[in-house]
Amino acid sequence: MPELRKDPIIGRWVIIANERAKRPNDFKADQAGMKEVLPCPFCEGDEHMTPPEIRSIRKEGTKPNEPGWDVRVVPNDSPVLRIEGDLNKRPHGIYDMMNGVGANEIIIETPEHIDHMSDLSPEQISKVLLTYKERIEDLEGDKRFKYVLIFKNHKPAAGATNIKHCRSQLIALPACPKSVKGELEGARKYFEYKDRCVFCDIVSQELSDKKRLILDIDGFVAISPFAARFPFETWILPKKHSSDFTSIDKNSSVGLAKVLKELLSRMNKLLNDPPYNYIIHTAPYRRAKEGYWSSIEHDYHWHIEVIPRLTRVAGFEWGTGFYINPTPPEDAAKFLREVK
Ligand SMILES: [Zn+2]
Ligand SMILES: [Zn+2]
Ligand SMILES: [Zn+2]
Repeated sequence: MPELRKDPIIGRWVIIANERAKRPNDFKADQAGMKEVLPCPFCEGDEHMTPPEIRSIRKEGTKPNEPGWDVRVVPNDSPVLRIEGDLNKRPHGIYDMMNGVGANEIIIETPEHIDHMSDLSPEQISKVLLTYKERIEDLEGDKRFKYVLIFKNHKPAAGATNIKHCRSQLIALPACPKSVKGELEGARKYFEYKDRCVFCDIVSQELSDKKRLILDIDGFVAISPFAARFPFETWILPKKHSSDFTSIDKNSSVGLAKVLKELLSRMNKLLNDPPYNYIIHTAPYRRAKEGYWSSIEHDYHWHIEVIPRLTRVAGFEWGTGFYINPTPPEDAAKFLREVK
């Protein structure tokens, strides 16, 4: 069973993956470069190669774990956290730890062997986004979980295995992650002081400045954040205030799909098919102590952060938390606006 251990100084949780404990030589092997894994376990017709599906969008009359699906969700067969068991929160001397309980699912975005999400149709991407929503809502029923992170790793340099079939992942966590907490606290303080959502203020500032605006399509904007940490870091936000990603519906999911497709294909062209990650930041499950989340519906605003992996985090960033971004966000936005 993996363990969650809390850093007693910073309060950050770390997953100790003791089930796949690596020895020094394993890391050398990792760096040796990877061949594509074949046959692909995510293609239609290879359903037997994955654990049984959790959910799928499929054509009428077809059965689970058989061909005939559009989007398919399966458990990760080497999960970071384990779905079985209780948390067993406990001290260890001065330290805090709990069992590594959580869900780790793979969302297979297409039955075809396609590498790039930007090659899918907006209708197909919309089905993927609605599947995210459905999974977040479904996992809320499991009282052990406080937060669900949806993310995509594209290419090995962004943390994926070398299977060229587009997919994303979900990890449900028994604790709210520190980076989300940081955003939640910052947004709440801004709201207490100004009585406005900081993200809504950012959206209207960027729509009027236009210098860091990349796309403005069907109720969503893509912007280069004012203090972007990485070159070409881009945020996608709904223009209409909403704290929770699960507020998207069939209609708005198509708009979001169009922005995501357009942004990813522009990054692909401009940056020569870079490895990238995206993450969805949404409000945590509101089941903490009464009153604790009293203003979250008003002060927090869900968004997607897309980060092409063009630079490496080095000693200075590691030691200070200061990032050095070699591309001013205004330039990044201009380059992305001008891609044909
Ligand atoms: Zn495939
Ligand atoms: Zn807002
Ligand atoms: Zn965020």
